[in-house]
Parts: sequence; C-alpha cells; structure tokens
Amino acid sequence: MTTVGARDAVVDGSLGAPPRYVLGLDVGGTKLAAGLVDEAGVVRSFVLEATRAEEGPDRGLERLFELGRRAVAEAGAGWEEVGAVGIGCGGPLDSARGVLLAPPHLPGWTDVAVVELAEHALGLPVALENDATAAAAGEHRYGAGAGSSHMVYLTISTGVGGGIVVDGRLYRGSTGNGGELGHVTVDCRGRVCRGCGRKGCLEAYVSGTSLAVAAAAGDPVATEVWEATVDALVCGLTSIVNLFEPQLVVLGGGVVGGTGEQLLGPVRERVRAEAMGSAGEAKIVVSAFGQHVGVVGAAAIARERAASAGAVAHG
Ligand SMILES: [Zn+2]
Repeated sequence: MTTVGARDAVVDGSLGAPPRYVLGLDVGGTKLAAGLVDEAGVVRSFVLEATRAEEGPDRGLERLFELGRRAVAEAGAGWEEVGAVGIGCGGPLDSARGVLLAPPHLPGWTDVAVVELAEHALGLPVALENDATAAAAGEHRYGAGAGSSHMVYLTISTGVGGGIVVDGRLYRGSTGNGGELGHVTVDCRGRVCRGCGRKGCLEAYVSGTSLAVAAAAGDPVATEVWEATVDALVCGLTSIVNLFEPQLVVLGGGVVGGTGEQLLGPVRERVRAEAMGSAGEAKIVVSAFGQHVGVVGAAAIARERAASAGAVAHG
C-alpha cells in the first residue's frame, strides 16, 4: 500500500514530536505478522508469514525482523518516520526485561532476549508485551474500547487470552503476567487444560476449533459441541463481568468475527440475565481490527512505552 502524502509530514527530529509511525510485530504459534501503524491506529501495511517455531528463536526472529522491514517498505515509508517497535507474543514473558520466558506455543524459545535482539536488528526502541494485553491496549486506544475506562478484551483462537483496562489503564499484575482470563475456571472437576494443567479452564472448552463447528450446523455432534462452547463462554464471561464490571467486553480472534451474531446474540442475552446487577450491563462487541489486532496492539504498546519513557510525546 502506498501512503499518500507521507513525505509531507516527515518528523523533523524536533524534540517531543510524536513519530508518524510505529512498527507492530506479532509472534503467534503459527503466524508472524508485521504492520506499520500510524498515529490514528490505521494499519498502512500488513504482511504475514508462517512462524515455523521448530526452526528455533534465532531463525524465527531473523524472519520476524525481515517481515518488519518489508512492512515499512510496503507502506512506502522511510525508517526516519518510524519512532518505535512493539512486539506482542503469548506469555509467559518478562515485559520489563524484554525476555520471552517459555511460551507454550513456541516450544524451545526459552529465555529469549527479544527486545535486545530487536533493538540491535532494527535500531529503534522496542517494547515487548503479552499479545492479549497488547490487543486490549489497541482496542482501548484506537478501536472498540476507545473512550471507555473499564474494558475487558478476550481473544479466542487456539487458546484463550485476555487483557484488562481498569480506570483507563492496562492492568498487568505484579510482574506483567496477570489477566489470564482463559484460565478462569468454568468447571472445577472438568477437562484438563493444556495451557496450565488445571481442570476446567475456559480455554479447555472454548477455542477457535470448537467455534468453527458452527459452520457444520445441523450435524448433532456439531450442535452439541456448539452448545457446550456457548455454555462455557457464558459461564466464564459472567464471572469476568462480575469481577470487573466493565463498560464493555471486546471479543477477538478470527472465528469470533466469522460467527458474528450466531455467537454474540445468545451470549449477550445470557450474560445479561446471569450476571449480578449492573455487571450485566456490559456491552459485548467484536474486535474493531480483525486479524490486524495483533499489530495494532503491539503498536499501541510501543507508543505507550515511548511516551512514558519521555522519548516521544503522546501520539
Ligand atoms: Zn488453564
């Protein structure tokens, strides 16, 4: 995509000028994504490729940084217009030190100093954040949650991730690994959760795969899986809105967008009926960014981090 007029507003290097763009990078278990994101959260370029996690972190990160360079080139932007880089990845990770600890979706990527490697490769300040927390930041800054002060983001893909905004700020927990909403228990004697090993987590019942059976409506097995999935999602979401009393809940993940009202209709109605008092008033909506949410979220984190570090003004 060509960015019309990009050259007219090149940051002149004056102190405090917000960068025109930040680069968002997203490291998923199956896909790497990169996008150049402007000050309004608009994605000016978006490129994807397979993660191939089994090739190991050195090769994987080399390809991630190359994808980032491609995203800048495809937007028709110059590197002098890019102020920072944000990287979103599944946890556990240490966002303060910029290190991936042992993400289960990236076997063998243990204690990887992603931020240091990225800063060396790309020559810009880099921020690392849990991908679902980053997505929550993106929705809150630019998307479905703009203007809200209390918001919950839940992403449903291979696993279930969450991000929480309380009083207008991201809630990260004491070391940045809080907000694991996929591991809210919906049946304490239920299925074993592959993500954490406990029983009955929301993630053990609700996944992109279980939602995708909606496509096979009419098949009795598919119908049963669909109903069990909706039950678990309603149970988990009701606990979540009772805990946080958010103004809205944003649901992300490709399949959520694909199932639309077939999923949201019954979920909204039942959460409203089952939640306690005003907690049931939470609006339940779909992500504003679809498959771009990872790079928009990473970009939002990069801007937030850069602003709080005093390196740049608020974008
Ligand atoms: Zn779990």
